[in-house]
Amino acid sequence: MTRTMKHLLAVRQGLPAEALELHESPVPQPGPGEVLVRVEAVGVNYADVLSVMNEYLTPAHYPFVPGMEFAGYVTELGAGVSGVKLGQLVACLAGQGGLAGYATVPVQALVPVPQTYTPVQAAAFGVSYLTAFHGLRTLGRGQAGEWVLVQAAAGALGRASIQLAGALDMRVVAMASTEEKLAVARELGADVTLLQDDPERVQKVREAAGGLGVPLILEVVGGQRLAESLRMAAPRGRIILIGNASREEVRVNPVDLMKRNLTLTGLWLTTLLTDPQAQAQTAAEFGRLLDKGRIAPQPGPSYALLDTAQAFSDLLDRRTSGKVIIEPWR
Ligand code: NDP
Repeated sequence: MTRTMKHLLAVRQGLPAEALELHESPVPQPGPGEVLVRVEAVGVNYADVLSVMNEYLTPAHYPFVPGMEFAGYVTELGAGVSGVKLGQLVACLAGQGGLAGYATVPVQALVPVPQTYTPVQAAAFGVSYLTAFHGLRTLGRGQAGEWVLVQAAAGALGRASIQLAGALDMRVVAMASTEEKLAVARELGADVTLLQDDPERVQKVREAAGGLGVPLILEVVGGQRLAESLRMAAPRGRIILIGNASREEVRVNPVDLMKRNLTLTGLWLTTLLTDPQAQAQTAAEFGRLLDKGRIAPQPGPSYALLDTAQAFSDLLDRRTSGKVIIEPWR
């Protein structure tokens, strides 16, 4: 008898509730160089939601199975696969395909995770922690003792950024939309916390970092707030543009960078994953930071596959804290 599984399809451009449909299909076979993974947990990224709405960096081709980051157990090996064992817990950064009972994954898309992690922890790890690492170190060149501004601080990337900044002995100003989210940031080690809509936020961020501003900003809100971030930056400050969660048009006058010798750098994890220099820096430093013992994946609310549209809407509407998880077999 053919084994079947449930999977989710983005069938058209639109808000999650309009775009996503639940379907049943045969369990796929792994091709050469692929493994079959029983998906236990999907880590939902803001990018998944943007993809469904066709607002991501790359255009969406419907229909597709969303879910760029997921974790589970290897149940079959395709031809020519070596170095992966049946039953092994793997995390996958596959671009899409995770929101299903099973997924076929090219071995290059497997990310090593500690075998002591649960699948939920493994699904909450790769994208957020690698992005935070490249923002803080590879592109941000953050140093011990320096201040960094972390926005959306209780979100998946925000939590990872605070933890890694702590492991680097950096000092953190954290911003978020609610007092509850700021309390999370403080628990994770943020030194100063500020509401994202505090009317005196520019002045307060500058004062927190000694009056001149912060040397490093991990920008995830974007839109009209980016111009404001330039005013929060110290002379020669580095602003790493990681996201545009506001979904507003970004308007920045490059002349404003000149005035205080600021640097604005874009970051996209997808291209850094195959960038030799970024990979060398990851190999040299990332594991050592994790070993400092302050790093723990931060799963947030968990949903069943059937409730994915709700999960995506909650993430989009800022109702979540931590990494949103979908458990396809729940
Ligand atoms: P989060 O878990 O951080 O959730 C998104 C958060 O964005 C919300 O909780 C909210 O936090 C915040 N936010 C701020 N302003 C707005 C706004 N106007 N509208 C909606 N949300 C807002 O998601 P992720 O960790 O997945 O992603 C965080 C950001 O980082 C996103 O912009 C994402 O695109 C980006 N990213 C980019 C990567 C890259 O390779 N370039 C990789 C990973 C993430 P609050 O309520 O506190 O304001």
